[in-house]
Amino acid sequence: MAEKQKIVVVGNGMAGARFVEEVLSLGGQDQYDITVFGEEPYGNYNRILLSGVLAGTHDAKDIFINPLPWYEENDITLHAGVRVIASTESRRRLTARAGFSCHTTSW
Ligand SMILES: Cc1cc2nc3c(=O)[nH]c(=O)nc-3n(C[C@H](O)[C@H](O)[C@H](O)COP(=O)(O)OP(=O)(O)OC[C@H]3O[C@@H](n4cnc5c(N)ncnc54)[C@H](O)[C@@H]3O)c2cc1C
Repeated sequence: MAEKQKIVVVGNGMAGARFVEEVLSLGGQDQYDITVFGEEPYGNYNRILLSGVLAGTHDAKDIFINPLPWYEENDITLHAGVRVIASTESRRRLTARAGFSCHTTSW
């Protein structure tokens, strides 16, 4: 079997997660290793409903679209709480920071 290609998504917001959902719906799981970097330490949530959370009409736990277990169930490597601070597309390398520690990933 051919080695899987890699997809690296920077940003685990509504657009980034929707993109990943679309790749999965097209069967991309078999073709790609998917890695997502998200600065926020959560799964993907519906940002539009944040006003409801602030207004008290929605509970924070009810606005998640893809909670953390969803990533594992779909073989997606999620780096939650990790900010990408630099990327070099030509060398297929990015640097990310979590707290005070930095690490470099290649794809
Ligand atoms: C209260 C509220 C109400 C809204 N109401 C509406 C509405 O009624 N209709 C409408 O159309 N839109 C609405 N919006 C706007 C809508 O939520 C945004 O347009 C949408 O969330 C944008 O999606 P996005 O994925 O591009 O960005 P975001 O949802 O902002 O997600 C970006 C994600 O990427 C992460 N990120 C960014 N840079 C990095 C990095 N370098 N490394 C790692 N992670 C990174 C961020 O932490 C964030 O989690 C509303 C927004 C808010 C806050």
